[in-house]
Amino acid sequence: MTKSEMYLKEAKQWAANNYKPLDVVLERGQGAWVWDVDGKKYLDCLSAYSAVNQGHCNPTIAAAAKAQLDRLTLTARAFHNDQMGPFLHQICELAGFPKALPMNTGAEGVETAMKAVRKWGYKVKKIPEGKAEIIGFEGNFHGRTITVISWSSEAQYKDGFGPLTPGFKLVKFGDADALEKAITPNTAGVIIEPIQGEGGVIVPPAGYLKRVREICTKHNVLMVADEVQTGLARTGKMFACQWENVKPDAMILGKALAGGMYPVSMFLATEEVMGVFQPGDHGSTFGGNPLGAAIGRAALDVLVKENLADRAHELGEWFMGELRKIKSDSIKEVRGKGLLIGVEMHVEAGTARPYCEELARRGVLCKETHDQVVRFAPPLTVEKKDLEWALTAIREVLSMNFGKKPAMAGAR
Ligand SMILES: *Cc1c(COP(=O)(O)O)cnc(C)c1O
Repeated sequence: MTKSEMYLKEAKQWAANNYKPLDVVLERGQGAWVWDVDGKKYLDCLSAYSAVNQGHCNPTIAAAAKAQLDRLTLTARAFHNDQMGPFLHQICELAGFPKALPMNTGAEGVETAMKAVRKWGYKVKKIPEGKAEIIGFEGNFHGRTITVISWSSEAQYKDGFGPLTPGFKLVKFGDADALEKAITPNTAGVIIEPIQGEGGVIVPPAGYLKRVREICTKHNVLMVADEVQTGLARTGKMFACQWENVKPDAMILGKALAGGMYPVSMFLATEEVMGVFQPGDHGSTFGGNPLGAAIGRAALDVLVKENLADRAHELGEWFMGELRKIKSDSIKEVRGKGLLIGVEMHVEAGTARPYCEELARRGVLCKETHDQVVRFAPPLTVEKKDLEWALTAIREVLSMNFGKKPAMAGAR
């Protein structure tokens, strides 16, 4: 039995069955590369769903983490600490918001946004008590809490978890008119992913975010951007909303905010929106803790100093161009922005899963999203020559056909 097989067997015996990972057991990472317990090397093209934008074990971030581990790790919000203020200052200036509320996971950041939107609806917009609505989008992903899954359009995310939280509406992503039609006097806010990541890397039509902004302003509805996955340089701008010069009323960040070394999320908002929170309204034992804050400060430094947004843009344009050149009847579409790229496979060519398994065998780690899409989202520190190396395997694998029928009728 290989070491990998041993660990796989152990995990299978003891772990809940709520995930279906690839059969790869990793023990070490550096930059865009990771190694398994049997010494095999892989190029990471997932980046823990964009949480390690700064690269695995980024030395700058690791140094900050190690230093802070010996100083102070947790005070809870009962007391102040000397890391949280500077961290919030830094992220507020970077994102262009006057106020920030730190949490831990992305889902908690989204929950915070929902609370803020509802409370703003009642206290500022004067929506009748208990009537506030939040509008979301079909195909969204915002996390896994009961309230967050309550407005998912994915049946499996909700099955067996009711009763669900009321007060949500879903409209078609990419259709601004549908959004405007769904707004009522009781609509408090809209929460939107600028690009739907888990939904299959769905890029809305050009000008859509701008229209959403205009519609929200016109109807006195808050626009909240969930940039947990698209934010922090992933799409080639620091925040994906910047592609259309759109300034939301509030924003949620997570994932890469601490470079994959710690769970840190953030709700950022205008004075008016954040002003609805009073002491005791909301909180978290670990939110704003000095260890997470010190790591977050270094993680932001790396994004800015290493100019990772421009790097994502340049590498992404080139890489997506190379993917589009692949002549394969199995590929339906290549889409994305920066280094958030999805390759949708034809249903007839099988699901994305066997393609990911075959890529892993050749040393390229990807994970399928939504059955048909292979996502490519390497750390933004990845070298062009590493992606060139991966392309050899990618070209071969994406030209295969794991379906029973030819990909396109009459093509073969
Ligand atoms: C991953 C993700 C979340 C949830 O983050 P967790 O840290 O897993 O709770 C929320 N929104 C978006 C857009 C995400 O991609």
